[in-house]
Amino acid sequence: MERTLSIIKPDGVKRGLIGEVVRMLEQNNLDIVAMKMLHMTKKQAEGFYAVHRERPFFESLTDFMSSGPAIVMVLEGDNAITRYRDLMGATDCREAAEGTIRKAFATDIEQNVVHGSDAPETASFEIAYFFNRFEIIR
Ligand code: GDP
Repeated sequence: MERTLSIIKPDGVKRGLIGEVVRMLEQNNLDIVAMKMLHMTKKQAEGFYAVHRERPFFESLTDFMSSGPAIVMVLEGDNAITRYRDLMGATDCREAAEGTIRKAFATDIEQNVVHGSDAPETASFEIAYFFNRFEIIR
């Protein structure tokens, strides 16, 4: 069993895609063991994406992530990190495979509907960034 952090980004919430994304998670046996809605401050978004602070799109990305409410979730399952990243599809939706969330819904390389942790260490950091242990179902 493995856990990963999922975010439905502000574009996904604004466009009414919460249900669609959750349905795809459920159909793919990625169990939701924690879930909440929050509106990140700019500082919270900067802390979350600190690994990207040298990237040219950091300013724009953190503005976007703090632009409106998002849904943050902890997903659990066998090989959940890789399985959820496969389900999300490529960062650039033009490269995303058929059947993925980004292929179905994303419109832009930045406003790409969902986030998912990319490794066990980042998953631990990202889950702890938003949830304490009493908020995760076991
Ligand atoms: P992910 O793991 O697929 O989400 O991709 P990354 O970790 O590489 O990037 C984090 C997020 O930054 C992406 O999901 C996009 O929202 C954004 N991003 C990545 N690359 C670019 C880019 O070239 N330009 C812009 N504007 N945003 C980007």
